[in-house]
Amino acid sequence: MKKVLIVGGVAGGATAAARIRRLDEQAQIIMFERGPHVSFSNCALPYYLGGLVKSKEKLLLMTPESFQTKYNIDARVNQEVIRIHRDEKKVEVKNLETNEVYEESYDVLILSPGANPVVPPFEGVDLPHVFTVRNVVDIDRLHQFVSGFNVERVAVIGGGFIGVEVAENLKEAGKEVALVEYAPQIMAPFDEDMAQILHKEMLDHGVELIVGDGLKKITETHIELNSGKQVEAQAVVLAIGVKPEVKLAKEAGLEIGELGGIKVNANYQTSDPSIYAVGDAIEVYHRLTRKPARLALAGPAVRQARAAADHIYGHKQENKGVIGSSVVKIFGLNCAVTGLNERAAKEAGIPYDSVYIIAPDKVGIMPNSNPLHFKLIFEVPTGRILGAQAIGKGNADKRIDVIATLITMGGTLEDLKELELTYSPIYGTARDVVNIAALVGLNVLHGDYKQVHVSEVRSLVEQGATFIDVREKNEFERGHLVNAINIPLSELRQRLEEIPRDKPVYVHCRSGQRSYNAVKILQHSGYANVYNVSGSFLGICLY
Ligand code: FAD
Repeated sequence: MKKVLIVGGVAGGATAAARIRRLDEQAQIIMFERGPHVSFSNCALPYYLGGLVKSKEKLLLMTPESFQTKYNIDARVNQEVIRIHRDEKKVEVKNLETNEVYEESYDVLILSPGANPVVPPFEGVDLPHVFTVRNVVDIDRLHQFVSGFNVERVAVIGGGFIGVEVAENLKEAGKEVALVEYAPQIMAPFDEDMAQILHKEMLDHGVELIVGDGLKKITETHIELNSGKQVEAQAVVLAIGVKPEVKLAKEAGLEIGELGGIKVNANYQTSDPSIYAVGDAIEVYHRLTRKPARLALAGPAVRQARAAADHIYGHKQENKGVIGSSVVKIFGLNCAVTGLNERAAKEAGIPYDSVYIIAPDKVGIMPNSNPLHFKLIFEVPTGRILGAQAIGKGNADKRIDVIATLITMGGTLEDLKELELTYSPIYGTARDVVNIAALVGLNVLHGDYKQVHVSEVRSLVEQGATFIDVREKNEFERGHLVNAINIPLSELRQRLEEIPRDKPVYVHCRSGQRSYNAVKILQHSGYANVYNVSGSFLGICLY
């Protein structure tokens, strides 16, 4: 009979335990969890603050009792594994209720200890109104504090997905919220141009968004930022990032990777083949950059846990790595991303180009048809898809899941162009946003026309470049680029003499479709130096 010990009883740990039971009815499985709860929904924690999850009990998916009755798994809460004796194949466990320390032997050990919130030593971090969010105990404390202590203003530090979700949910709970991010933008997986849409959504919903400024110190009544700015706050949530929990592994002499996570092979074995590690604590392999990466997400954690369990039982398979897909709701917007963004492609030294389109998420005459901002990044010259970002009121996640599938299969722009997707007007358009992005990408890749990105527009305007705005007159009058020439698409063929032939011409409309047609008209009329503005006026306004 195999004896399997598991450290950590949430995403990775609980998944590994259940899978092992399904593979082996005889195995003795003991799962140790330091906290008072096993198998809770970390990802739903912020929604308890905003009231979408009505009670903290609803966050608990399983209990030690249900693990016992359903799976015959010995799930022990309030038990911390404090040491691994690899030579004896034993662990030391501390019962946190009694302080008693005892040993348990193993044939196989699985580590899924997760990652800890990063808490830099800012002045004031130990004050009682400073919180982090990792588990049910944390969110309950925060929930009680903000609802019970006359707290009106909360500062959330860190604009990653946890900070953003916490900020939104505190706002939904009626609090005044400041969100502070050190980098110039929130949500690092998105490129700067796309992040502007997220910034606007935050501001439109009354969040005081402060980017490009870091926390310096916390006092009872306010926070102070590096710029000297003071923000009143009766509660502070630190969501600055997470750090893999590797203490146990490190002390046991297991190899730690260059990014600080536990090093594993393609089957999630650590440098000791009897010890596996999965989840937020490990370093993964990135399929696209072919380099180690860290990815603290639930999907990869549960996939890795199942794969490790399978490997223990001789089911051969190899982890081919991650691409990094995630989705987050920011007030009225669904924001999804997969693969590499421009920054990551650049860092990886992969030659790439990108297109930014804004297309309706369903047929325009249908109720709830809304623009979907969609950015596609592809390798040059192969056309291999590297990444995508989608933001809109509609189902951005569906579009990104399509791209994630394609990236995983090594797909190209040609594949994406040909992808046959479902269509009815209430769900999408006959040529879906993702297909359109492929067509635009192919045009760019094949040199059918040239483009500039919205990030380049400001400096072009400052240099006095010629912009042709092919929107209708009434649209132009509502707002336009300085010195842009307004020639609606319908009048373009008749007004060519107004457009200079001896210098570059940059064309835009509202969302990119009319300007594409305008660019083609100009090219066919002998203009050699015409550029379409990728992202068009909607993208320019947001940038
Ligand atoms: P965890 O699920 O954190 O479990 C590790 C457990 O191990 C912890 O409970 C810890 O107490 C225990 N432990 C550690 N050391 C010991 C020890 N020595 N002895 C005993 N027990 C120990 N991911 C998404 O994909 N989508 C989301 O929307 C999303 N939202 C999130 C929202 C929040 C607020 C948070 C905190 C995370 C979110 N995540 C999300 C991330 C996701 O929850 C993690 O990636 C996932 O839980 C990682 O699983 P894990 O098993 O590695 O770690």
